[in-house]
Amino acid sequence: MERNYNFCAGPSTLPESVLKQAQAELLNWQGLGASVMEVSHRSKEFEAVVRNCENKMRSLLNIPENYKVLFLQGGGFGQFTMIPMNILGNKTQIDAIETGVWSGKALKAMAHHANINLVASTKETKFTTLPDLNALNFSKDSAFVHYCDNETINGVEFRAPLTECETPVVADMSSNILSRAFDVSKFGLIYAGAQKNIGPSGVTLVIVREDLLGQADPKTSDVFNYEVQAKNMSMINTPPTFSLYMIDLVLTWLQGQGGVEAIEKINAEKAAMLYGLIDDSDFYHNPVAIDARSRMNIPFTIANPELDPIFLAKAKEQGLINLEGHRSVGGMRASIYNAMPLEGVRALCEFMSDFEKQYG
Ligand code: PMP
Repeated sequence: MERNYNFCAGPSTLPESVLKQAQAELLNWQGLGASVMEVSHRSKEFEAVVRNCENKMRSLLNIPENYKVLFLQGGGFGQFTMIPMNILGNKTQIDAIETGVWSGKALKAMAHHANINLVASTKETKFTTLPDLNALNFSKDSAFVHYCDNETINGVEFRAPLTECETPVVADMSSNILSRAFDVSKFGLIYAGAQKNIGPSGVTLVIVREDLLGQADPKTSDVFNYEVQAKNMSMINTPPTFSLYMIDLVLTWLQGQGGVEAIEKINAEKAAMLYGLIDDSDFYHNPVAIDARSRMNIPFTIANPELDPIFLAKAKEQGLINLEGHRSVGGMRASIYNAMPLEGVRALCEFMSDFEKQYG
């Protein structure tokens, strides 16, 4: 069976060459006569995997020396709680920016730990616009400001990071990390669930500035304690070994593509192609303000929603899968992360043009 073009929002498509390599070495990894899933996480072979993941991440994102790179469990969702547990310190307030479903869930979870100072919300525009980050007023009393750089469900993405802020900036980059270049040194903490641009699910990347460590709530378990995990190569307990192995392969693949700057150009081209088709048509519609549009997650609707199931079924027949929108918003959504090739987006655009000719 041929592989489909998979537009799932996450877990999402992985580079085919990575899957083939994993397949080839599944039964006998590194001559050990066992798969990577069956050996100790304390073996020298596996420790090298974790070191490779960190080193490759550091070089791909230009991560400065004074940041720790952690590979934790609990997903992006787990960070909504782990972040205040670790870096609230003696403060009792968090600045929050609400731009969609995920930043909304984050502030709700963080509200169990601190008062939320809602600095901006785009709820009134149904999360189809973004505030100007650098024009907002932040509170000096807050431990940090939290925002989501790319809202996976709503399809909005900030063009540039928040830089004019005295309190540490904490960003959820679950669905756009490694898709474009940015300056890590502007952030206090960056986190991302792996299952979009990093690898399979099961791992959460946390990049945290060292000076924010050492103030965890004393009741915090070592498993959730950034400082303890940093001192233990993120292996205070058994990590998701297969996922980490896959991440190592994905990062090697990304380096082979020319790194983040090179993939950023392809990502821009893919997004321009799909938005171009949607904007040139009266049949398809994307509700997001042009300057707030995500290059990773592109939601769209059809003029007549009764056509949605037909669209999805016909797309599937053409090998274009997982295009249904999130259950909370309906319509369609194409997630076009790093591992979605340009040809996949071209195939989707051709299908959408043909569908419009037939049903429009
Ligand atoms: N933040 C964003 C932006 C997400 O897209 C997601 C999941 N899709 C999450 C957080 C939650 O991540 P997880 O499912 O890994 O807990």
